[in-house]
Amino acid sequence: MIIILFGPPGAGKGTQSKFLVNKFNFIQISTGDLLRNEINKKSKYGQQISSIINKGELVSNELIYSIIDSYLNNIKENKNIIFDGYPRNLKQAEKFNELMIKHNFKLDKIFFLNVKRKEIQNRISGRVICTNCKEIFNTNNKDKNLINHKCGDSFFIKREDDEEKTILKRYDLYMADTAPLIDFYKKHIGYCEIDGNKEILQINEQIEGFLNI
Ligand code: AMP
Repeated sequence: MIIILFGPPGAGKGTQSKFLVNKFNFIQISTGDLLRNEINKKSKYGQQISSIINKGELVSNELIYSIIDSYLNNIKENKNIIFDGYPRNLKQAEKFNELMIKHNFKLDKIFFLNVKRKEIQNRISGRVICTNCKEIFNTNNKDKNLINHKCGDSFFIKREDDEEKTILKRYDLYMADTAPLIDFYKKHIGYCEIDGNKEILQINEQIEGFLNI
């Protein structure tokens, strides 16, 4: 089963993907994570990617395409994949279709996590990530899991692109570039809009209900 999860930064795509990975054995392909890996590996594109991400801009469609394409080349058996953060604009959606054909996959479900701007601002301003296990927490909620986290608190970092100014820029970019994807995917039988303002577990219930696995 192939799923696309899209929605503005901070909508909870990463968190919801993790639920599906753990419960249904999906592979999560997060373009944000793949790009951050390139930065950490100090690959030939690393520095360029880092400056783009930190400015809150989008990496070129060609680079994203080639990163995803080579990732898909290495997938041998598991055909349950969640695309988290890709496609992000119309051009990428068209190329996504090409990738599906090339790798013999079929897109089944598309979830749009719709969240209000104010809610996004609140969420991202408190977001920290454990660099050890990649779990995401929010310091704005009195999150018990954060205090008792298994890796301890020494791995928590705030992503550089989570600063207030960058958040707003990323949100505006999302509105301009990603929102047209709604019209593009609305015609697909597997399209589902999710109220992403709700609590994490309620969102998860909505998604699983529509997945019907
Ligand atoms: P994310 O972790 O999904 O919030 O992505 C972090 C950053 O990575 C974005 O703000 C973009 O700069 C870049 N990025 C992630 N996915 C894409 C994509 N599909 N196309 C272009 N840039 C992307």
